Amino acid sequence: MKKEVYQKIRRGGHELLHFAHHHEGRILFNDLSGADYTKPFISHFLYQNGFKPIYPQGRKFAVCVSHDIDILVQPNFFGWQKIKAPLRELWEGYPLRAANYFSASSQINPYQNLDKILDYEAHQEVVSAFYFLALQPHEEDFSYHVESLQSTFQQIVEKKSEIGLHGGHQAFKSLEKIKEELILLQRNAPVPVVGYRNHFLRFDTTCTWSLLSEANFLYDTTYGLADFPGYRNGMCYPYQAWDHKKNIELPLLEIPLLVMDATFIYYLNWNPAQAVEYVMKMIDEVAACQGVFTILWHNNLFIGEWGKAFKRIITHCRKKEAWFATGKQMAEWWNEKQYTQKCQEIMENVNTD
Ligand SMILES: [Zn+2]
Repeated sequence: MKKEVYQKIRRGGHELLHFAHHHEGRILFNDLSGADYTKPFISHFLYQNGFKPIYPQGRKFAVCVSHDIDILVQPNFFGWQKIKAPLRELWEGYPLRAANYFSASSQINPYQNLDKILDYEAHQEVVSAFYFLALQPHEEDFSYHVESLQSTFQQIVEKKSEIGLHGGHQAFKSLEKIKEELILLQRNAPVPVVGYRNHFLRFDTTCTWSLLSEANFLYDTTYGLADFPGYRNGMCYPYQAWDHKKNIELPLLEIPLLVMDATFIYYLNWNPAQAVEYVMKMIDEVAACQGVFTILWHNNLFIGEWGKAFKRIITHCRKKEAWFATGKQMAEWWNEKQYTQKCQEIMENVNTD
């Protein structure tokens, strides 16, 4: 590798953990300063050095759409909303949902919309992953009992989408908690749960990957930035997770998260048009290195202007002929093609002189 490329990478970012265990990786990526999270510079470097991942159906890049299900019941849902919401359902072509608003036994509200997300995605030929909290009523951010979601789970499976675990506030640092939540979700899910994302993107690089691996997850997709859309370690390719205590590679794939809807609203205060414009540029730069674009869109933001923003992003991905994959499909594809090993071979052979 030429010096100027090396310098470019040095300017790039920190927490470049993936390659840190290789001698060359250490030379390249340790002690980095002046972090730039806004470019997938490691992926671009790998691409320029011969890494050219391919995807099913001859697609040139991949997109993993996901939904963290934090809230299913909208608090303070009363008054004028109780009239406006069913009218909107009627307008959108959901008369049964509209009728449910007037049924005394129905819990329905605008956030109980996973059926609508599934309908929309099926229509767009998109599959996605839904990560569910599996909490007890006394726990922080409890919103629903997973036991009550069996028909929803069935719908997700029928649409070929995925059910994953959305670890609660305490899970990212506790094997006991991860296992407890996994067991509860698995007891109610009709298919094996193999994917994970922690609530609030809480993550500890020194332990979370190891704990998830011990709980037998296939992949994690938590590793991203909450406060800015981007590439936390310069990667828009999945990579093998690393155990920092034992200094070994783990049989767990990280599919780094690039974009979260809440970032635009709660951290950046951008409007939907600004967000869409920025995300489209990111999609283009991920596609340019045949990468994997990952996006988290919460179900409670599948409504109104932000719902439209999500749909515009999906349209852009479709126009660029993305391969849409669930996290599970992505991880299986990546592992089957041995792409992690290929990336590592390239890194081992780069000339750092
Ligand atoms: Zn969450």
